[in-house]
Amino acid sequence: MASHEKNLIAARGKMLRDQLRARGIDHPGVLEAFSALPRERFVPPEHTEDAYADRPLPIGYGQTISQPYIVALMVQALDPRPDYRILDIGAGSGYQTAILAGLVSHVYAIERIEKLTEKATAVLASLNVTNVTMCTGDGSMGMPAEAPFDGIICGAGGPDVPECWGDQLTDGGRIVMPVGGPHSQVLVAVEKHGDRIRRRELCGVRFVKLIGKEGWPED
Ligand code: SAH
Repeated sequence: MASHEKNLIAARGKMLRDQLRARGIDHPGVLEAFSALPRERFVPPEHTEDAYADRPLPIGYGQTISQPYIVALMVQALDPRPDYRILDIGAGSGYQTAILAGLVSHVYAIERIEKLTEKATAVLASLNVTNVTMCTGDGSMGMPAEAPFDGIICGAGGPDVPECWGDQLTDGGRIVMPVGGPHSQVLVAVEKHGDRIRRRELCGVRFVKLIGKEGWPED
């Protein structure tokens, strides 16, 4: 094995230990999914050496791949189970999509920027991830044609959780998304029980904008 490959595997192990386990990520499946997935494949080549850094990285088109810990926190908060169908809004690099694909039965992923959809689709195919349906479009409207979902997860921040997402969720299903202003948000986890909604706040975050009909207008 080439030494730079060894370095990346070591960096992945260190990320698992120092960024995920040490901060309270304890879902065995989530840890296993992070341990199995080469994050360097989802970042631009000039960032390969930083692939496991404790921060978001640029992926082009003004967008970012989220910090590993935040992806783990969001995926854990979704309570993923093997028979679940999940909607991933703002697929970006496809990293979070691939983590989810290792945990659930099928992931429907939607991304607004076609070039990112194309790149993510190619990376997932090269890693033999087959339980993902990826498309380009405005995820702020959800994906009514494939609803209901057992969980909806969004990697972009909006002014509030779009109401139509709740209608596309199974009973007992969860939504995880950053909610707030365009420059800072709170990560919220919403659980649907019949007509009742339970809302939890996880932490303060900074995400790129959810741009669309039920999100922010385009600049
Ligand atoms: N989880 C992703 C994060 C990507 S950043 C990853 O691991 O790489 C958020 C993404 O949301 C950006 O790629 C952005 O283009 C996309 N986005 C913003 N508004 C959107 C919308 N209305 N529908 C779908 N994708 C959207």
